[in-house]
Amino acid sequence: MKACVLHGVGDMRTEQVPDPFPGPGEVLLRVRACGVCGSDIPRIFEKGTYRFPLIPGHEFAGLVEAVGAGVDSAWTGARAVVYPLVPCRRCAVCETGAYAQCADYDYLGSRRNGAFAEFVTVPTWNLIRIPEALGFEEAAMTEPAAVALHALRRAGVDTGDRVLIFGAGPIGLLIGKWAELMGVGETLMVDVDLARLRFAQSIGFRHLLDGRQADPAEWAQKKTGRGADIVIEASGSAAAFEHSMGAARTGGAVVLLGNPAGPMSLSQDAYWAILRKELRVLGSWNSARVAMPKDEWRLALDAMSSGRLQVDRMITHRVGLDDLWDRLQMMRDHSEFHCKVMAVNPQGMAKNNEDGEDNRDGKHGIDSSHL
Ligand SMILES: [Zn+2]
Ligand SMILES: [Zn+2]
Repeated sequence: MKACVLHGVGDMRTEQVPDPFPGPGEVLLRVRACGVCGSDIPRIFEKGTYRFPLIPGHEFAGLVEAVGAGVDSAWTGARAVVYPLVPCRRCAVCETGAYAQCADYDYLGSRRNGAFAEFVTVPTWNLIRIPEALGFEEAAMTEPAAVALHALRRAGVDTGDRVLIFGAGPIGLLIGKWAELMGVGETLMVDVDLARLRFAQSIGFRHLLDGRQADPAEWAQKKTGRGADIVIEASGSAAAFEHSMGAARTGGAVVLLGNPAGPMSLSQDAYWAILRKELRVLGSWNSARVAMPKDEWRLALDAMSSGRLQVDRMITHRVGLDDLWDRLQMMRDHSEFHCKVMAVNPQGMAKNNEDGEDNRDGKHGIDSSHL
């Protein structure tokens, strides 16, 4: 099969490798779509995977091609999305069902082979059938959609809440979409990249700030009257971490989920804000795949297949395995605007999906010059 194999940090090659063979309890999945996660960029270019060579790619969906020993043959031909974390299901944490906190987990695309390939083997426990109405590309968005939902559920979002999101990347936008679906009062978004803000506006967000042009905490106070009920830090920037404390209202919640770009520290004022305002500062990690009815993966699939959560417009680039390396470098260098980049098999369409929309008319309504 063809696969994008990471041989070392910054050394990925698209090459022919032997087809994987499904072991007991596993299926062979023909990959139809695999999103590039923001975390794949440092994984491929800076930190590396747990071992080499390894095939990255953990946001994927496909078709079950064959089943291994002991697997129900009814899986053959099924359309499925894959929860990429393989918990040990033996440790004390796994017994509670909090699999994302497993002490000894495996992970498709960082610890074992993932889906930047034509095929991948997957334990049946990790498969979830894709609802009829949902295509493979949208299904491949289930993982980031579940991660976004998890962050809001951590905060205990309520109807009417004013939610401020730092970072208008795929996760930030998905958080915003979920927030609106959950009936929040207002969704405010801050980024330092105007192209991202324009894109956020094109998919329906109205309260946007270029964080280089004004103080986000002051802006949030002005927009909401008393500060945001919930602040979600989805950018990983130290400046946003600092601003989060100032932007939250007294008694509000700050949820941290952006992968930190470097050391994160707080000024004395921001630290005081946590104390004085009695903020709830919460971490959010991964997503919860638990028993029904609050399995965040099924909630995400339901929301997408019913049309309540629309993710297709967030896919700005579709690319085949032969061109994936170029696109990863584009993402690393920010040489072109992108939201979600999707590796699409077999050869991709390599088309830009921005449907020719032009937001460069200056009347974009993004708060970038006041104060
Ligand atoms: Zn991801
Ligand atoms: Zn475990």
